[in-house]
Amino acid sequence: MSQQPSARQLRNWDRRYLWHPFTQMQEWEQEEPLIIERGKGSYLIDTDGKKYLDGTSSIWVNVHGHRHPILDRAIKKQLDKIAHSTFLGLSNPPAIELARELIRIAPKGLTRVFYSDNGSTAVEIALKMAVQYWQQHHPEAGPKNTFLHLKLAYHGDTIGAVSVGNIDLFHARFKPLLFPTVEAEPPHCYRCPLKLAYPSCHMACTEPIEVIVKNRHRDLAGVIIEPIMQAAAGMIPQPPGYLKRIRELCTQHRVLMITDEVATGFGRTGKMFACEHEGVTPDLMAISKGLTGGYMPLAATLTTDDIYQGFLGRYDQFKTFFHGHSFTGNPLGCAVALASLHVFRQEKTLTQLSSKITLLTRLLTPLAALPQVGDIRQRGFMAGIELVMNKETKAPFPLSAKAGHRVAAIARSKGLLLRPIGNVLVLIPPLSISKDELKKMVEILKQSIETLQIDPCPTHQTHHKR
Ligand SMILES: *Cc1c(COP(=O)(O)O)cnc(C)c1O
Repeated sequence: MSQQPSARQLRNWDRRYLWHPFTQMQEWEQEEPLIIERGKGSYLIDTDGKKYLDGTSSIWVNVHGHRHPILDRAIKKQLDKIAHSTFLGLSNPPAIELARELIRIAPKGLTRVFYSDNGSTAVEIALKMAVQYWQQHHPEAGPKNTFLHLKLAYHGDTIGAVSVGNIDLFHARFKPLLFPTVEAEPPHCYRCPLKLAYPSCHMACTEPIEVIVKNRHRDLAGVIIEPIMQAAAGMIPQPPGYLKRIRELCTQHRVLMITDEVATGFGRTGKMFACEHEGVTPDLMAISKGLTGGYMPLAATLTTDDIYQGFLGRYDQFKTFFHGHSFTGNPLGCAVALASLHVFRQEKTLTQLSSKITLLTRLLTPLAALPQVGDIRQRGFMAGIELVMNKETKAPFPLSAKAGHRVAAIARSKGLLLRPIGNVLVLIPPLSISKDELKKMVEILKQSIETLQIDPCPTHQTHHKR
């Protein structure tokens, strides 16, 4: 082995050779990249040995903390057998065992597991399954080829996932590549487009969706939704009963319900899956991020027996689901995912979590009094703190002011790593975080927000689309 490069060398090589996701590289090249070399529990440790609280759970994936001994051991043990063999025409023990475990914990009625390797592909698979299902199982229903989704939705960055997404800043420029879809206004209680308030609104926001599903069910293959919380939109929660209403509409009009639990799955909202809050079973469910405890890229699309049956037939009927990836069912990923589910049981992760969720609510409450904070939105261990320039008018900071980014930079200097979404500070701690660490996290967050100057000059207000 050659000599380890120094931290300085690594920083230089990063700026010279790399292109980072969702990153303006011109700015990146002028900054000192933070290079994470190690981790332990809720902390990340950089090449200079400096420790940071992982406020995003490494972009929403980590569950039981970094370097969990049971997860570490599961990978090492699997590595002693084999790292990878194909799932096309072959199977492997961890993938089989994991599928069985996933079906045990999934919303009742989901009976089959189709693996892939990231959230976007899990969504693509759900979309393709839905379209092919209608072609084969109910051809008399006519071509059901399109999808209804919410505005501000985020389902991943591949073209199919972007087609059912709607975050202008990320998606608008790719319009020429996208397939047509039907969009509906999402609920947004802080900035309600109907100017109503929950619960006296009686969820009037579901009425347009009802009209769409009623009128378009003949060409709608499915409705895709991030259950409970539109995460990448800036942590926009749905009012209680909303998801259940969508399920009812789908059932009533024979449209498949696809839930994207990539962000919300594996305890993030306080239950194993967000659907459970509403007693909902989707027809297709995409999972990824927390599936392996945040250790390895792995994803799955779960579905019902009815959909699975729609793909059965003699080979020459060509009802096969013609889709697969080189790393489908990767044994290392499946082994660590199995270990993660084991830790959920052994450490009673979800039971432990409930008092931490209450604590997080209690810690965040005083932040609402800060003049910079317009709204605090929390579902379990997913929280968004929306910064505003004017609390009364809810006037947002212009995106160019980079308010979220500035707060995150201060937080980083104080030992907390955040990844804001525009003006929304996002706090997604590992489920395993201790109460003291959680207190420290929110304290740094509060101190960092307090440094943010509120622009007294309203002429600076240019309203940007997200
Ligand atoms: C992150 C995310 C995805 C995409 O997952 P990748 O693994 O980044 O492709 C899809 N849907 C939701 C809700 C997500 O949060």
